[in-house]
Amino acid sequence: MNDLEAAIKNNSGILVEDKIREFFPILHQEVNGKPLAYFDNAATTQKPIQVIEALRKYYELDNSNIHRGAHTLASRSTDYFENTRRLVKEFINAPSSEEVIITKGTTESINLVASTFGRKFIAKGDEIIISTLEHHSNIVPWQLLCEEKGAILKVIPIHDTGELDLVAYRQLLSEKTKLVAVVHASNALGTINPIKEMIQQAHKYGAKFLMDGAQSTAHLDIDVQGLDCDFFAFSAHKVYGPTGVGFLYGKRELLEAMPPYQGGGEMIKEVSFEKTTFNDLPYKFEAGTPNIGDVIAFGEAIKFVNNIGKETIRNHENHLLKHAVERSAEIKGFIPIGTAKAKVSVLSFGINNIHPFDVGLMLDASGIAVRTGHHCTQPLMDRLQVEGTVRASFAVYNTIEEIDRLIESLKRISKRKN
Ligand code: PLP
Repeated sequence: MNDLEAAIKNNSGILVEDKIREFFPILHQEVNGKPLAYFDNAATTQKPIQVIEALRKYYELDNSNIHRGAHTLASRSTDYFENTRRLVKEFINAPSSEEVIITKGTTESINLVASTFGRKFIAKGDEIIISTLEHHSNIVPWQLLCEEKGAILKVIPIHDTGELDLVAYRQLLSEKTKLVAVVHASNALGTINPIKEMIQQAHKYGAKFLMDGAQSTAHLDIDVQGLDCDFFAFSAHKVYGPTGVGFLYGKRELLEAMPPYQGGGEMIKEVSFEKTTFNDLPYKFEAGTPNIGDVIAFGEAIKFVNNIGKETIRNHENHLLKHAVERSAEIKGFIPIGTAKAKVSVLSFGINNIHPFDVGLMLDASGIAVRTGHHCTQPLMDRLQVEGTVRASFAVYNTIEEIDRLIESLKRISKRKN
């Protein structure tokens, strides 16, 4: 056991909730006179003290631009920045650090692929497949690309449970398919997609596969080589790290074949007015000064997750989800939305006769933070014929006692109208 594990687990290796919460200063506050219960983790997770301190230390001691400086601060910042890239490489089991591009977030990672892979490899009449479960950031970039190129966007339908219709997926695949871009775990419903099988099927037709890992990376083990995905995108802020930082893994041969994303400093080898040559991977895709401090601080979030262990995190969150699902039967008018067998820790629901936004406001009055609305998945809401849902999404620091508070509050809210 490492020090952190020893500090937060009991003798049987089970997470002790109160101990883990000590690492998250933000959780120790009251909201509307009640202790904060933060269940909006699919939107963004809270940050442990190690991340906050790393950011502060960077600005207090190390702040400098990276890669080009001859001085000590510049080389220190560069080392720390590149160290996070190495940690991410290991975190997702990428073959090399050069295949890990640092971006602003999942959205930018997907847009990077749409714009550069798209520019080079997508032509009129080609087909791109996405799914009904996608977040807007894995829909709109492909729509823009298809419009520009005269390509065709196809959509994998879902069953009422919120699981993908895999028979329909196989029927959509053809020699015309150039790319499949699908979410690993749905932000709105929690559904975990059978991604490995889907990648194998896409590859049979020579199509490339992009995984949107925004919602899976904090919960599931990610092995981009084992999965054999061509691209993998995720955001630091959903994995206990800062906002404004994300990553794109891409297979080397693809990244090398793709044109640069943006032009500017850092992404060049030599510039003249006649001709510019581009830098090697990964810098070819990293124009301009990046979000150095937050990238460095994210390294601490990865160490935090690694030290606890994804399996321990998953067991804890699954325990919370199971308890929440069981107790939700006590809420009159409770409508579960998304009942897939394999799920990350997301409870999406409606309550009869009450608008989701009103449920959210009433929970907030009890210090309970949930998200309400379409969760940036409007086509999915249309398919499910709901305007939106109430979403409680769990993280490592949530407790059974907090879930009980959520359920008791929902019982009271529902009783008023049902
Ligand atoms: N994809 C999914 C499934 C998401 O849940 C999100 C954010 O909620 C995104 C993409 C976009 O992530 P970001 O806003 O960090 O770029």
